[in-house]
Amino acid sequence: MTFQELGLCAPILTALDEQGYEKPSPIQEKAIPPALEGRDVLGCAQTGTGKTCAFAAPILQRLSTAGRTDHPIRALILTPTRELAIQIDESFQAYGKYLSLRHAVIFGGVSQVPQVARLQEGVDILVATPGRLADLYQQGYIHLEQLEIFVLDEADRMLDMGFIHDVKKILKWLPAKKQTLFFSATMPPEITELVNSLLHRPVRVAVNPVSSTVEVIDQWVYFVDKGNKTSLLAYLIGHLQVTSALVFTRTKHGANKVARDLTKAGIPAAAIHGNKSQTARQQALADFKAGRIRCLVATDIAARGLDIDGLSHVFNYNLPEVPETYVHRIGRTGRAGRGGTAISLCDFGEKPLLRDIEKLIKRTVTVVEDHPYPMVVLEAPKRDKNGRIINQEDAEARAAAKELRRVREEAARQRREEAARKAEEKALEQTGEKSTEPSDQEKKRSRRRRRKSKSTQNAQQETPVMEASEIKEELPQEPAPTPRHKLTRPGTRLDTGDAMPRTEFDRPDPLAGEHIMDATARLLAPRKGLVARLFGEDRGAGRKGKKQNKNRQQEAAAPVPEEKKPQPRQEEPAKSAASRHNRKGAAKKEVQVRKGQEKESKPAQQRQAKSGTGFTRPDRRKNRGGPRPPMEPMKSGRTKDSTEQKSLMKPYYLDN
Ligand code: AMP
Repeated sequence: MTFQELGLCAPILTALDEQGYEKPSPIQEKAIPPALEGRDVLGCAQTGTGKTCAFAAPILQRLSTAGRTDHPIRALILTPTRELAIQIDESFQAYGKYLSLRHAVIFGGVSQVPQVARLQEGVDILVATPGRLADLYQQGYIHLEQLEIFVLDEADRMLDMGFIHDVKKILKWLPAKKQTLFFSATMPPEITELVNSLLHRPVRVAVNPVSSTVEVIDQWVYFVDKGNKTSLLAYLIGHLQVTSALVFTRTKHGANKVARDLTKAGIPAAAIHGNKSQTARQQALADFKAGRIRCLVATDIAARGLDIDGLSHVFNYNLPEVPETYVHRIGRTGRAGRGGTAISLCDFGEKPLLRDIEKLIKRTVTVVEDHPYPMVVLEAPKRDKNGRIINQEDAEARAAAKELRRVREEAARQRREEAARKAEEKALEQTGEKSTEPSDQEKKRSRRRRRKSKSTQNAQQETPVMEASEIKEELPQEPAPTPRHKLTRPGTRLDTGDAMPRTEFDRPDPLAGEHIMDATARLLAPRKGLVARLFGEDRGAGRKGKKQNKNRQQEAAAPVPEEKKPQPRQEEPAKSAASRHNRKGAAKKEVQVRKGQEKESKPAQQRQAKSGTGFTRPDRRKNRGGPRPPMEPMKSGRTKDSTEQKSLMKPYYLDN
């Protein structure tokens, strides 16, 4: 029979041809025609028989003839392991190369982000492991209403791995009307139950029953002491010129140890098991397929579904306790009818296991006696008080697992502590304080706030409520600030390292205008204060007030060259809040200012008389933070000279 005779379309035939498939395998021959007709199929077949192609080819053909351009999920393949999922997806890629159907694979243990992105692009065929599928479905990323074909792959393995409940949950999300293709190597009662509930008048396809596998595989057994197994393995790999071997161990710890010892013996090897990260497993597999390592040492679960073309040897470093596992293991070589070699290393204690295997496969495995590490320990294994075999390897594995658990718990504890510390730091940063106790600064601030709110309340009581426009009208008009370029002698800028470069004479040119200033006073004069006074700014508003004054001066100043313009500083959150508060309270403050001006007239005049400067100033305490009315010139009208200056630190100006 040919693939063409099975009724497959040209694009798929071309793709299969490119894969080097000359004729269909038995499962393909039996399953493809009913699957193409849309019937349910129950395939009793194990990995290595070509079952992926048996369901993938009909799915591709049926979906491609529908000619839809939107891409809802129309076929779902549920499979137990990540490795198997990846390989099935790769098969869809290979067989559907000349079709325009979209496929994707999702599995756990990796970030869901790229998988979700792929799903959102639209996918016709989704290959998934149960956990990740359920997860993404529950998050709303997967919609199965338009599903047409459902494949349950390796159903018995799902049962073994404890996924059967996930599978049953997923089954409830699928539409009732669909085609189901069901594959399982064995049919335990739970699986039969599932089959009866899920499949509708299925076509039963049974090929290659597990006990009759692998007639094409050469099987040998070497009797060897436990302690010499690795030496014998290394010897055989060299002696038999093994190019690619899969070595099965019973425990993960054993896999690590064998891989390490082989590498030490000059045979590049890597371990692959459930404790390895997905990345490490994929890397090991890629290295193995590329020939960078000669041996992959695996546990049964990790090796399940590994599809390695051209695998020449399978080694059973430990004999499996379940005889069917032996058949699954050696089925890794001799894929789809090709030949291969399976070698078992059997110690004295494992002899009963060998007998069980031989019973299952109904043949005797040939014993190789001529080798450098013959078995010399012919003792029955020691047993503990409960009758269990005392296995040194198991004790080591348990100790290693315990150590691994301890290291992981320690790492997790450190991560938790680190996270808690960071969260605490962040919280402190947000509150802007280092301790829960209010600092002196905080106490001062809150006192100031209390005073301010009290004075605002008083102002509100004393001042009739006024509209903003009214307030504006009521306030004395401020003179327009003198442009900065008129105050500054050009070309004398100093870089002081401030945010805004100061000018040498950041004040009126004493020679240019009507203002005359004493030379000593000019040198000692606090420059900012001068400008502030000229603008009628409040010096008493503290640092915050100074900053605001500076900003106002900058706004009012003459056009500053673009590159010299100050960059706005980022305010700290607390300060931003304060400035917001200031803006909001501007109207209230204006009211306060006004009130302050009304009240200040008498004491201010007294102060003016005392100081003799001739300038009057509103009461600062009552005008904190608000815009300041302009200085009033001396009313006396007399001319003053510099000798009358009270303090050299206080520059003054002569009236004209
Ligand atoms: P599977 O049982 O689907 O995991 O397939 C096992 C291996 O057999 C894979 O490496 C396939 O590439 C190969 N295979 C599947 N069908 C055929 C075929 N008709 N001829 C040759 N190799 C095949």
